[in-house]
Amino acid sequence: MPDILLIGGGHNALVAAFYLAKAGRKPLVLERRPLVGGCAVTEEFADGYKAPSLAHTLGPLRPSIVHDMQLERRGVQFVRPDPRLIALGGDGRPLVFSTDVQRTADAIRQFSAADATKYPEVCAALGRLAGFLDSLLEMTPPSIDAPSSSEWWTLLKLGRRFRALGKKDGFNLLRWGPMPAADLVAEWFESDILQAAVATRGIFGTSMGPWSAGSAAVLLLDAASDPVPGGSSVTAVGGPGAVTRAMADAAIEAGAEIKTGAEVAHVFVKDGIARGVVLSDGTELSGSAVISAVDPRRTLLGLVDPMDLDPTFLQRIRNYRVPGTVAKVNLALRGVPAFRGLKENATELLRGRVIVAPGIDYLEHAYDASKYGEISTAPYLDIALPSILDPSMAPSGRHVMSVCMQYAPYRLRDDASWSTRRDALGDIVLRTLEEHAPGITSLVEHRQVLTPADLEATYGLSGGHIYHGELSLDQLFTMRPTLGWGQYATPVTNLYLCGSGTHPGHGLTGGSGQNAAREILRRLK
Ligand SMILES: Cc1cc2nc3c(=O)[nH]c(=O)nc-3n(C[C@H](O)[C@H](O)[C@H](O)COP(=O)(O)OP(=O)(O)OC[C@H]3O[C@@H](n4cnc5c(N)ncnc54)[C@H](O)[C@@H]3O)c2cc1C
Repeated sequence: MPDILLIGGGHNALVAAFYLAKAGRKPLVLERRPLVGGCAVTEEFADGYKAPSLAHTLGPLRPSIVHDMQLERRGVQFVRPDPRLIALGGDGRPLVFSTDVQRTADAIRQFSAADATKYPEVCAALGRLAGFLDSLLEMTPPSIDAPSSSEWWTLLKLGRRFRALGKKDGFNLLRWGPMPAADLVAEWFESDILQAAVATRGIFGTSMGPWSAGSAAVLLLDAASDPVPGGSSVTAVGGPGAVTRAMADAAIEAGAEIKTGAEVAHVFVKDGIARGVVLSDGTELSGSAVISAVDPRRTLLGLVDPMDLDPTFLQRIRNYRVPGTVAKVNLALRGVPAFRGLKENATELLRGRVIVAPGIDYLEHAYDASKYGEISTAPYLDIALPSILDPSMAPSGRHVMSVCMQYAPYRLRDDASWSTRRDALGDIVLRTLEEHAPGITSLVEHRQVLTPADLEATYGLSGGHIYHGELSLDQLFTMRPTLGWGQYATPVTNLYLCGSGTHPGHGLTGGSGQNAAREILRRLK
């Protein structure tokens, strides 16, 4: 009999279920869709064509999770492409980011000799800060009101690590976090293409532009998991879906149960204590704890009766912002597109990500449109071609292109419906691609366009927000999801959160699930 019920079967739930089962508990994961993985799934979108439906790269995953869940032994073939990123330039000259610092510096030299000299310094500074930031991501945020003795101890150790950074790095960290990413990258570099490529790490998935205050904090948060300025392009053969399938196997082997096609309609609370859940088909399941890996708004405003929550807390959750800005376009292609500036036969170079983000102003203009409920007509694109790594994702000789498009605001101007704008969105993406890969339109055999409304309806993301909530300074760390509730607990006893709407909460790192399992096990003792 299961004793802990997990709502949602995304990667964070699978990680949490694994650690709970390892500790001797009996978790049951309830996923509403026919497959687990959440945003990390690989699905067939056209006859013979499979795509990473949403996310195409990993955060990357925390190494301890890869190790503990023995993902490689379970057949996951992680790929760390090199080059990891190609930034397409407005003038047709691409900038190629390799994992090797010197090789990237050499590529940067064609744009700026000063930037080429500066690049290794920036890599080193980010590397030093990442060590410290990673320890922040791994900890349970301390209680604000009444830190326990162990929390004081953790804070003390953290203080020591901060001091060990030295005066210069420590000062930089405090100063950089609240800055706009655009200002930060302008302190480092002078060439627009390099500034923009690095700044995208501060805006991907958010409702911020490069000039938004706090976007540098997102950049640093992302760099904590992978300090190389170009960002992570780690993926797996078969896409992120191959990883979550192996995670499910690991959780089951550890003793967890997983039920798909099981939508939770309600969390059953009595006397302020979560007692179980009711599924949409009316099935009642009880457990000694309920853990939701679904976003905080959907969990606390949709699944819990508002009468069971204190009005102040309820108001704070209502104020928790989930302004989605990402759309997804998956293309079935007759061949590999030829990108301007890359040699004809550049397939090997295209194993990593490709971005359309030619300059800071370009990105800010793309963001501007979304502030007024409009779709960017010259959007920022983050692209992968997963069939190059795994030819089985497309029929022989064919290819799949996975495109994350920003900015597509969840709430459209004049409350227009996304169902009437789907084609317009697909056309904008193709027109933008056509400028950088002339002829690509003629290669398209099929296209799948997922709007922010689809991300909400099909994948369960409130507001279509890919991180379950904005990564703004007021919604991070002890304030994720809301002030005083950063420790995975909720005001309902035995109801916990473990998804991306909790600390550290950005992409596919497994961090929220791992931290939450540790904290929940401690509390349930
Ligand atoms: C388009 C897109 C692109 C992205 N790109 C990247 C990327 O390149 N790199 C990266 O690191 N991250 C990326 N992300 C972000 C990343 O995928 C998410 O942050 C991460 O997957 C969240 O994981 P999770 O386990 O917390 O939740 P989710 O993956 O959202 O899983 C939650 C699960 O809960 C289920 N659910 C919802 N309601 C119920 C219910 N009532 N009952 C039962 N089940 C329910 C959902 O079906 C879903 O399976 C992207 C996300 C999107 C949408």
